[in-house]
Amino acid sequence: MANAGNWEPGKPKYYGRFNQGVVTINLPDVALSSEGNMDEFWKIFDDRLELCHRALRCRHDRLCGTLSDAAPILWQYGALARLKKGEKIDKLLYGGYSTISLGYAGLYECVKYMTGKSHTDPEAKPFALQVMQHMNDKCAEWKAAENIDYSLYGTPLESTTYKFAKALQRRFGIVKGITDHGYITNSYHVNVREDIDAFTKLKFESEFQRLSPGGAISYVEVPNMQDNLEAVIKVMQFIYDNIMYAELNTKSDYCQVCGYDGEIQIVEDDGKLVWECPCCGNRDQSKMNVARRTCGYIGTQFWNQGRTEEIKDRVLHL
Ligand SMILES: [Zn+2]
Repeated sequence: MANAGNWEPGKPKYYGRFNQGVVTINLPDVALSSEGNMDEFWKIFDDRLELCHRALRCRHDRLCGTLSDAAPILWQYGALARLKKGEKIDKLLYGGYSTISLGYAGLYECVKYMTGKSHTDPEAKPFALQVMQHMNDKCAEWKAAENIDYSLYGTPLESTTYKFAKALQRRFGIVKGITDHGYITNSYHVNVREDIDAFTKLKFESEFQRLSPGGAISYVEVPNMQDNLEAVIKVMQFIYDNIMYAELNTKSDYCQVCGYDGEIQIVEDDGKLVWECPCCGNRDQSKMNVARRTCGYIGTQFWNQGRTEEIKDRVLHL
């Protein structure tokens, strides 16, 4: 179909796969809108999913009719396909050649509000899995009807976590443990404030990763393990045996003023979170290097207040 000569429908495809875009559902908003009533929850959930579906269709429809000439490297020279000049890309938008993503965020807060428990609690876990399954079922339903490859995706939510958290506070005020932070928990992740060891976390999250086929990554927060490579290998082996995709979150910071190369700290200054060198007190961001997992890629660009609060709250899992 892409004139690459190496694609067979129905078989896994590595060359030229692409994504048409993502729209993310704010799961805590669904829960809070239901005021804790389960029947209402599933009704509102379906309404919101349909809204996401319509928004995804806007992205898809916007791409329909695009000529390969719009981006020759992508469509003509082989990055995504080898179409002819003047040819429309439309056929690549159907039949599984490319995907389109239903994203989701805040499964933890959603479950916590509806059940009063974290989704790691055996009593709340079935509901959490049901929510995940329902989003997968919707993707399958849309896909069957439209021949567009909808897939459920754990949105990285890099700065959007703050936007979603502020929207929740605006709509529902401060609800303890649900909307009282500047961030919400990424995708299916265990809440960053929850005490849990690395192995239990990875094992638990692997059950959810299976239900996030459009994209997922799990992390464990670790201290400096340069002198304990045996432990690093142990975790790596556990990841290999138990979960599709996971990583160790390490810290790699440097203070340009005093040469300190340990962990730069986040401290509160008059209600604002700022980065500070624990060695010399330097707070000038242009004179320090900080690298942190941003819940997608590792970033070094400093973050909005919500994501910074989330980074500050992270407990160590080892
Ligand atoms: Zn310093």
